[in-house]
Amino acid sequence: MHRNIYMTDELQAIYDQTVEFVTAEVTPHGDDWEVEGKVPREVLHKMGALGMFGLRAPEEHGGLGLGMLASATFSEALGASTFAGFDVTVLVHTDMAAPHLINSGSPEQLEQWMPTVLSGETILSIGVSEPDAGSDVAGMRTSAVRDGDGWRINGTKTFITNAVYGDMTIVAAKTDPDNRYGITTFLVPKGTEGFSVAKKLDKHGWRCSDTAELVLDNVWVPDSQVLGTVHRGFYETMKNFQNERMVLIGMGVGAAQAAIDQTLAYVQQRPAFGGHLYDLGAIRQRMAMNQARLDAVRAAMYHAAWVGDAGGDNVKEMSGVKAFGAETVMQIMYDCVQFHGGMGYMRETPVERMYRDARILPIGGGATEVMLEEVAKRSIVAA
Ligand SMILES: Cc1cc2nc3c(=O)[nH]c(=O)nc-3n(C[C@H](O)[C@H](O)[C@H](O)COP(=O)(O)OP(=O)(O)OC[C@H]3O[C@@H](n4cnc5c(N)ncnc54)[C@H](O)[C@@H]3O)c2cc1C
Repeated sequence: MHRNIYMTDELQAIYDQTVEFVTAEVTPHGDDWEVEGKVPREVLHKMGALGMFGLRAPEEHGGLGLGMLASATFSEALGASTFAGFDVTVLVHTDMAAPHLINSGSPEQLEQWMPTVLSGETILSIGVSEPDAGSDVAGMRTSAVRDGDGWRINGTKTFITNAVYGDMTIVAAKTDPDNRYGITTFLVPKGTEGFSVAKKLDKHGWRCSDTAELVLDNVWVPDSQVLGTVHRGFYETMKNFQNERMVLIGMGVGAAQAAIDQTLAYVQQRPAFGGHLYDLGAIRQRMAMNQARLDAVRAAMYHAAWVGDAGGDNVKEMSGVKAFGAETVMQIMYDCVQFHGGMGYMRETPVERMYRDARILPIGGGATEVMLEEVAKRSIVAA
């Protein structure tokens, strides 16, 4: 990691430990996992045993109680694995799903679930998107209606990461038919009657990450599985969106740095026109600009994390980071493939995979256009 003003010895140690782990335990095996379409559970258990799933969990539940800067650091370090499908498997668990439990869970729910969430025995997923509602979260159709001492849930969720091989999904459903934003979230463990994986989805990239289409067919859950406040799930879910967006960019920054490093090594040794590719101004200048752009994204991401940790509203900053960061990572991956020439198009070259993996970043967790609207709304100058 490039040192920055927000770094502490603790964050540096998290970064170093994570890079060391992914370099030893992930990168050498990632190609096999991509073929299998699965991250082995033992690797997640190992991470759990090392305390890597507890950065954001409260200390009384076995975590470190750290903030967004820790997640930024962790996600950037994961990116060094070069297997974004692995990175997202971990980050959906730790930074996109677990925060809902940590922030909204009752003392009983935390006591019940946090030990196995932190050990990796309970891998979490977050089920918000639906076939007819992605960017427009409030447009979801899955509904939950009161039934005895619980709720009856019906609907379909799609594109849900970790829901094929994971253990529990945090499901968002409409509970107030008169209010577009009347949503509640529920803890729905695997094996609940009526809750099933309709399809394991086949993807362009992130091949070792599992992605499910889920069906909830008359699923009944007791009140004890309501997460947070009834009808307030939309706002509770939105609260974590800044963190979710940040870690997607964090893993993208780590991956883009690895792609730049690999491409520089390649072009500096590849003979061409009596010298090396790196002697060509068009290549060296574009790679230099790519590094400068990536440094800007990285700095902006840590700054937005710091604003959040300081208790500030960082929606404008983080939305900008998500939009600019995702597009930047995509452009860098494009150039890295380009400067590898034909080898960049070959499956054996890591940037070929990294290019495919990066394509989701401007779409998932808030598309670029949606992010720019968040910035635009906050950029209106009062007359
Ligand atoms: C691999 C993968 C993993 C995912 N994991 C999860 C998960 O774990 N849990 C989960 O709940 N969801 C998950 N998603 C869903 C993801 O968050 C959505 O795909 C994303 O929010 C976009 O929604 P959509 O696909 O329905 O696109 P749509 O909402 O239909 O939008 C399509 C396109 O239209 C444009 N657009 C949309 N809205 C606007 C606007 N307001 N202004 C201008 N342009 C706009 C954008 O270019 C956008 O890409 C995942 C998706 C993928 C592909």
